[in-house]
Amino acid sequence: QAKSRGRGRFEFFDVALRTRMQRRLRMEQDLRDAVHSGQLWPAYQPVVDLHTGDMVAVEALLRWTHPKHGPISPAEFIPLAEESELINVLGKFVLNDTTRELAALRSARGLDLSLKVNLSVRQLDDPHLVPAVRDALATTGLPANALTLEVTESALMRDTSAAAEVLTALRSLGVLLAIDDFGTGYSSLAQLRTLTLDTLKIDRSFITGIADSHDAAAIVASIIAMAHAVGLTVVAEGVETEKELILLRELECDQAQGYHLGRPSAAAELFR
Ligand code: C2E
Ligand code: MG
Ligand code: MG
Ligand code: MG
Repeated sequence: QAKSRGRGRFEFFDVALRTRMQRRLRMEQDLRDAVHSGQLWPAYQPVVDLHTGDMVAVEALLRWTHPKHGPISPAEFIPLAEESELINVLGKFVLNDTTRELAALRSARGLDLSLKVNLSVRQLDDPHLVPAVRDALATTGLPANALTLEVTESALMRDTSAAAEVLTALRSLGVLLAIDDFGTGYSSLAQLRTLTLDTLKIDRSFITGIADSHDAAAIVASIIAMAHAVGLTVVAEGVETEKELILLRELECDQAQGYHLGRPSAAAELFR
């Protein structure tokens, strides 16, 4: 009896696994189609200068409105896209669409606003990446120094020498580079120094709770001091309260973003 129950359970897991795999495959196909049917669009989150209080940049965050399932989080579909060449297609779409939108906004409103675009680690391996960035800037007229490309710390640490080469090529275009989600990837200051970066973004997990814990605040203070010592601009992500904002200003953090300052939203909504 135990044996048959065991087998039944095994079959149950088998079915669950197959269902999950089928859903994955279907989602991947849907994502391929989504690029060409207007289901993907960039949301923009304000980045605020802590010295002036002005919105100085926006970060493009990709959104997928699935016709059947509704909004799907990038935390779900970006990893899916990263499993194949699809991430390069998505990456190119984001780059072209957001540089065009930002260049238009800047000239229509006389705004001096920078753009931050996330890059996946797989895009660093794409030989078309550097020319695609160069083309996007040339086509839209967005100044190179108004574009920051964000790469996560864990992606950069995967293979610093290979990444460094691509980053150098990107930098020679005049664009700025940021290390994203800093603090989650266990990199050392020595490793960081070998990469020429402009901005360090402190991961949200380090910001949460700084207003209530001296230790948490001390860690953030030391990250800021370390980053400033090597000439990096520091951005805090995930600022959700006024207390956190005030503290970050006291700690001489340069820029901040988070729900307290503005949620990611469509360009038409943000720039009404
Ligand atoms: P990220 O680049 O670290 O972006 C920050 C994430 O934190 C975004 O999640 C943003 O909506 C969220 N966030 C911002 N402020 C707050 C806050 O105050 N509280 C909380 N709880 N969350 C906040 P989102 O939009 O879901 O994106 C998740 C990740 O997906 C991004 O993390 C990025 O790694 C990736 N991603 C998004 N768009 C793209 C893209 O176009 N290309 C690539 N390669 N990755 C992307
Ligand atoms: Mg980012
Ligand atoms: Mg981040
Ligand atoms: Mg992140």
